[in-house]
Order: sequence, then structure tokens, then C-alpha cells
Amino acid sequence: MEPVESQTRSETASGSLPSDSAPVAAPAEPARVERRRKPRTWETPPAPVPPPHLDDYKKIVGAAEIDELRFLARDLKGKSLQMINSTAVGGGVAEMLNQMVPLLNEVEVNTRWAVITGGNDFFEVTKAFHNALQGGEYKLTQHARDIFLMNNEQNRQRIQFEEEFIVIHDPQPAPLVPARKESRQQWIWRCHIDLSNPNPEVWGFLRPFVEKYDAAIFSSQSFARQLPISQYLFYPCIDPLSEKNKEIDESFVAQTCEEFGIDRSRPIVTQVSRFDRAKDPVGVIQAFKQARKYVDCQLVMAGGGATDDPEGAAVLREVREVAGADRDIIVLDLPPWCALEINALQRASTVIVQKSVKEGFGLTVTEALWKGKPTIAGAVGGIPNQIVHKLTGMLVHSVDGCAYQIRYLLTHPEFARQLGQNGREHVKENFLMTTNVRRWLLLLRILLTRASHPPTV
Ligand code: UDP
Repeated sequence: MEPVESQTRSETASGSLPSDSAPVAAPAEPARVERRRKPRTWETPPAPVPPPHLDDYKKIVGAAEIDELRFLARDLKGKSLQMINSTAVGGGVAEMLNQMVPLLNEVEVNTRWAVITGGNDFFEVTKAFHNALQGGEYKLTQHARDIFLMNNEQNRQRIQFEEEFIVIHDPQPAPLVPARKESRQQWIWRCHIDLSNPNPEVWGFLRPFVEKYDAAIFSSQSFARQLPISQYLFYPCIDPLSEKNKEIDESFVAQTCEEFGIDRSRPIVTQVSRFDRAKDPVGVIQAFKQARKYVDCQLVMAGGGATDDPEGAAVLREVREVAGADRDIIVLDLPPWCALEINALQRASTVIVQKSVKEGFGLTVTEALWKGKPTIAGAVGGIPNQIVHKLTGMLVHSVDGCAYQIRYLLTHPEFARQLGQNGREHVKENFLMTTNVRRWLLLLRILLTRASHPPTV
């Protein structure tokens, strides 16, 4: 594999690229396809697609892995489980639950998914907590605590908690734990965010709730905290058969690009993400503008909102402002049912960027790697678990570093191709839905054994 100039915190976009990639004059305005036509899918959600069956995965992971899942599920048949999170659409957790719940049901672990509700004030507080738990500045007020607890209390009264296993995803619904039926339930807190450096006030407030759970699951070794309960490491996952990730016809990729006004004759750099400052969309545009001084390319910023993220509209406005009238920056505010279009955009991309400055795991990175795309991503959260620098992708720490890597990968296609290939293998080994189902089945078995044989010391 071709070596690449090492990337450190003092990355620079100059010095190590071949002299033929010196700044170029802005290209003459080429004849371009008509821009930003409104795609047909924009207004009408497609009919829901039936979920895949376990056997469908055999062609990807092999029959042995699927047999193993059925074997592990044998002792769990008829057990019941409820997943609870804070949004049904938008973001990685909803994405995973959508695909995983039917698979657990298929192996006869009776699984149901509930979503907590709340007003804008609640989601403003939970978003602020989310940012603070990932290291942001925040002054916790009594008012915020009251809103958080009151909304959780309303959800506690609204939701039925009858199952043997209750899995609460992320901090928003963590205070539901007093709903536990002591004698016969196991409560699991599945934390998807980076808790390695939390705001002490907000973590201090949340921690007593977390300590009431039977187990906690984190997405990376570095996210775990000192807790008196068992902790497990689960990497998140993508579903290779979902609309977002399945193989699609090249004609659909071409049609999608045409509908969005993307010129496939020129390199395409893409970031797919909620419009969230943690994903640094403005930094992506700045990096793109630097890189484009040296190599012709377009930038696609595709995103949408999540019902539990009230900041999205403001961030989208900022992105549009920074993009200005630049015809090479295509900002797409997608409705939540555009999985196939996102799939097509990722497949059409020459390079995929995920320049997060804070991240949980970063499923968009997993999706990009699975599609064999050379991927550049911020070295934060769970991203370094996915991107082994220079082997499965490129890690960056700054706008300059990101610009450098865009430019490098666009001018070194053979190295870029090899990165993409390695990235796909890495996802296949570690981050597919079937691996995740296996982890869940193993954990449920462990918790059951623990419940029937409690430790004697
Ligand atoms: N996503 C989407 N539409 C969008 C933006 C993102 O469907 O407009 C999906 C994206 O493809 C990925 C998930 O939402 O599956 C984002 O997960 P990730 O872990 O990257 O970030 P999160 O949004 O959970 O912070």
C-alpha cells in the first residue's frame, strides 16, 4: 500500500503532494446538468419495505453464522424484550432498531420498540445534555432538571413495562428506570454516545439513574465509566440488506444524481449527516473549498433532521449561508424516508467525509466503508474503531487535515481504492447486523444465567 504523509494535529495541506497538484486556476465554467431539480421521492414516502429474514444474510456472512444465531436463540425462545429510545426516525439508533427488532422477533425473542414523547422544551434539554455528556460546556439548572424528570415521569405513566428485559437507549429515557418491576425484570442501559469526558454536572445528575440498571453497554472501550454495574462493549452495526445499504442498480445511482443535480463526470465528495454542529458541516465546506483549489470536485452535503434534535434547522441555515451561491456545493435537506437515495449518493461518491468533532460511533462511516468508499473522518468517538488510519480510511483532526486528505485521495485513486476495499472487509468482520444480533443473544443469555444463579459473594 502506498504511504501517505502522516496526519497529526499539525496537519498541513502543503508540502507533500506531487508538484502537479499545485493550485490550479478555477476551471472554466463547464456545461453542467441542470441543478437541484426536485426529486420525485422528495414529497412522497415510498411504501414500507418488508424486513429481511435471517436466511437472506447467508449470502453475505455465510450459513454457519446464521445457524449459530438460531442456536444461541434456542434458550431464549418466548422471552420478551422492549427497546425504548427517543426518536423513531433520524440518527443511528433509530436506524439500527428498525432493522434489529424484526430479526430478534424472527428468532422468537418477542421484541417491541417504544419511543418516548416530549415537547420542544424536553428535547431542547435532552439535546443540551447530549452535547454536555460528550464534553460540551453547560450550566445545569433546576429548570432543566425539572423538565427532564417531568417528561420522563409522563412517559413512565404512558408506557407499559411488562417485558422481561427492558433496554433503554441513551440518556433521554434513562430516568425511566424506577418503572422496573423489581422481582422479575432486567434493565439494560445502552449508551450510544461518547461518555469518555462528560460534563461532570450533567453526568453527576444522570449517574444515579444509570447505577440502578443491571447492566450498561457502551460502543467503545473508551466510553465506559466507573460504575457499580456490569458493563459490556457492543459495537453498533449496519444492516447490509437495508434500503440504506443493499446493492442497488447503477441506473438508480445515475438517476438519483441526475435528480439532485450532481455531475457524475467530476469527482464527488460527500458527507451524509444530520445537520448538527458535532458533525462539523461548516468545517467540511471549508475543507472542500481548500481542496478544490488544487483538484476539481463537487461537494454533496446530504442530511435531514431527527425529531429529538431541535437544533437542526439553525445548523442547516448556517450551512446554506457558508455554501452561498457556490454551484459545486449541493446541500440536500432530505426527508427521513430517503434511505435509497442516501445509498445511491454514497455509492456515487468518489470520497466520503465524516468530519465529526464529537461522535458516538458514526454509522455513516460504517455505511461508507461497507460501500467500499475511501473515507475521511474525524478521529473522535467510535470512529477510530472503524478507521484504522491509512489502512481502512483516513483520520483527520482539523479542516486543513481534511482538505489535505480530500486532495490526496482524489489524486491517488489506486491507494483510495485499496482503502475502500480494506474498509469493507473491516465492516464485514465487525459491524454487521448479524454480529450485533449475536451480541444481544449472548448478553440476554448471560443476564438470564446471572438471574437464576446470582453470585454468592
Ligand atoms: N441519516 C439519514 N438521513 C439523513 C442523515 C443521516 O438517514 O439525512 C442516517 C445515516 O445514514 C446513518 C444515521 O442516520 O444511518 C446516522 O447515524 P450516525 O451514527 O452516523 O450519527 P447520529 O445521527 O446517530 O449522531
